[in-house]
Amino acid sequence: MTQDQDPRHPQLPDRKLLMERSVPGRRGVRLPPSDVPEQPMPDAALLREELPLPELSQPEVVRYFTLLSQLNYSVDTQFYPLGSCTMKYNPKINDQMASLQGLAWVHPLAPTEAIQGALKLMYRLQGYLTELSGMAATSLAPMAGAHGELSGVLMIRAYHQSRNDEQRKVMLVPDSAHGTNPASAAMGGFQVQSIPSNERGNMDLAALKKAVGPNLAGIMLTLPSTLGLFENDILEICDVVHRAGGLVYGDGANMNALIGQAKLGDLGFDVAHINLHKTFSTPHGGGGPGAGPVCAGGRLAPFLPTPVVEREDGPSGETYRLGTPPQTIGKVAAFHGNFGVLVRAYAYIRSLGAEGLRQVSEDAVLNANYLLARLKNAYDLSYDRTCMHEVVLSASRQKKQGVRGLDIAKRLLDYGFHAPTMYFPLIVDEALMIEPTETESKETLDAFIEALLAIAKEATTTPDLVHNAPYTTPISRLDEARAARQPDLRWRA
Ligand SMILES: *Cc1c(COP(=O)(O)O)cnc(C)c1O
Repeated sequence: MTQDQDPRHPQLPDRKLLMERSVPGRRGVRLPPSDVPEQPMPDAALLREELPLPELSQPEVVRYFTLLSQLNYSVDTQFYPLGSCTMKYNPKINDQMASLQGLAWVHPLAPTEAIQGALKLMYRLQGYLTELSGMAATSLAPMAGAHGELSGVLMIRAYHQSRNDEQRKVMLVPDSAHGTNPASAAMGGFQVQSIPSNERGNMDLAALKKAVGPNLAGIMLTLPSTLGLFENDILEICDVVHRAGGLVYGDGANMNALIGQAKLGDLGFDVAHINLHKTFSTPHGGGGPGAGPVCAGGRLAPFLPTPVVEREDGPSGETYRLGTPPQTIGKVAAFHGNFGVLVRAYAYIRSLGAEGLRQVSEDAVLNANYLLARLKNAYDLSYDRTCMHEVVLSASRQKKQGVRGLDIAKRLLDYGFHAPTMYFPLIVDEALMIEPTETESKETLDAFIEALLAIAKEATTTPDLVHNAPYTTPISRLDEARAARQPDLRWRA
């Protein structure tokens, strides 16, 4: 798609496509004379008469592709306030470690004697995650958060089945939950029942007490909740579920507020997954790769997915091998998990150390509360209380002026920022969910705040300016459904 030069932005770079830049006869490289004998051409039916290829000089090609690469928004170039995604800076040392020859080229079918170092790394990472989550054991096999969730709910199912408690079919999920939670529970064969939130943004304890019974399999909880709030009654919630014979699943996709501060196992959770591609700093977005290790307390540890790396101390030192938990739910993925992501998480944890990890959560929470304090007069807050690692604003007030959350998110692009997460959690009207993470400077946060304050003013004074944003991106507003269903991926003359 092309766009004519916008007179309001004469500095916009040339958006012409490669074919449109082509000039007949222009060349980027000249091939050397052939030093091999000429061969007969394939059958004429296989040859095309017409094959338009772009003709350009070398610098034109370099500029074109460099320009394309710059259209990618990335956390290495700009601030990425996408709530619930933890788009934080990923220290480059993690990538360097993951590309070490001995780790990057290790073959998944290599005999365990030949990969002792890789197994030792996995064993140690299992130990760190077990410690940070306050659980008993960890399997690194799942390759995404949702994959960890499915593994965890299958473990809950296997646990009840092992006790001939087959009637336990109900999985409770709060109405603020990430969409993957009810989806995972349903895929695991459970009946999903929603629990409402109360006026403070916490789970409605009375509703929970009414919902538990002999059919209760468990509850899936996010802590802090997806509203970015601590669940004040968490101890009592776990207690109510346990006394009814259920188990507590923790969605630990975002541990940025908790690492080094509180352990899910200590609070009463029985099983949780952790997104290494969020909290533990593997680059993500665009669909992967990720890793969603699942950590289990004493009751569920025997059901963990295989393999789990085990250590044996013999007369000639320690050895590591791939083990199988006694009542395992089996394999959830090929081989041993997403190894490169595991190496990055290991490097991240080792380079920060315990003190550094604690600092991560302190700074993440401080940054989110700084945004909250400076923005709460310009935007609505559904729950006016201290937040954890993210703050959920509401554009209800702007909606009354005819400006929606979507318009605000689009206008932010003109100010040079990625849009926040929008319209999630579903229970917040016109939600704008912002997670600054611990890696942003005060200057960046201030610039972002100034942009949001300016947009709030524009919504009152020049709402049409906001409606028609963005003005500075290659294309403005997509018909998103059509773009997904009928993608236009090919150049046509
Ligand atoms: C990101 C996220 C997930 C899902 O993780 P994926 O790796 O995308 O499958 C689940 N729950 C919460 C709260 C999340 O933020």
